[in-house]
Amino acid sequence: MLEPGGTAAEVIDVPISALEHYSYCPRQCALIHVEQTFDENQFTIRGRIAHERVDSGEERTTRGVRALRGIPLWSEQYGLIGRADVVEFQAGRPVPVEYKVGKRVGAHAELQLCAQALCLEEMLGVPVAIGALYFRQERRRYDIAMDDSLRRRTVETLEAVRDQIRSQALPPAPADARCPNCSLFNACLPSVVARRAAHWRYQVDLFRAVPLPTGPGTGARDRDA
Ligand code: SF4
Repeated sequence: MLEPGGTAAEVIDVPISALEHYSYCPRQCALIHVEQTFDENQFTIRGRIAHERVDSGEERTTRGVRALRGIPLWSEQYGLIGRADVVEFQAGRPVPVEYKVGKRVGAHAELQLCAQALCLEEMLGVPVAIGALYFRQERRRYDIAMDDSLRRRTVETLEAVRDQIRSQALPPAPADARCPNCSLFNACLPSVVARRAAHWRYQVDLFRAVPLPTGPGTGARDRDA
């Protein structure tokens, strides 16, 4: 990769999971992938247990579909590294399958899935037309088409994450409906940092020097003696 001046720039490998984190909240992505912050909540604990089951390294064939679990993934072209929960081979074509604990919310997981598809295409030299997301709380599997729109959004998000890692920037906290379900709520303190200006004023007021009262009965003479 060449920078504008023509000098070689360091290619930063981006963890595939960072795309989902960034899509959910850029600050969450920076806390995890720039500041290396990690905290557990009910969702991450359930997710970790679910992934430990999936990441068992087994190979299974069910109804003619071969499935490999816990497959390492990478892409030299896109600078991606990560792991697929499961890669199925349907009629010989790879289909990445990502397991999620909760319900389907937004399109965050689609970006992660598409990044897995980009890696598989480069590693295996075959097109990946679909992936699948399985949400345990819904007990439902969604087939996701790896269409041009999803590929474009995935690459745009990947570049945004790479810029964030390169700049080491920590974005402001949106402090909105996403926060109560965020595993980093306690580390982030969104309601505090979102009101940084107000808290700065409290701090200034707290330490402002107050002139001492003078005159009869204030003890000013005794103090000054
Ligand atoms: S608590 Fe809210 S602002 Fe902070 S990282 Fe999570 S979603 Fe983002």
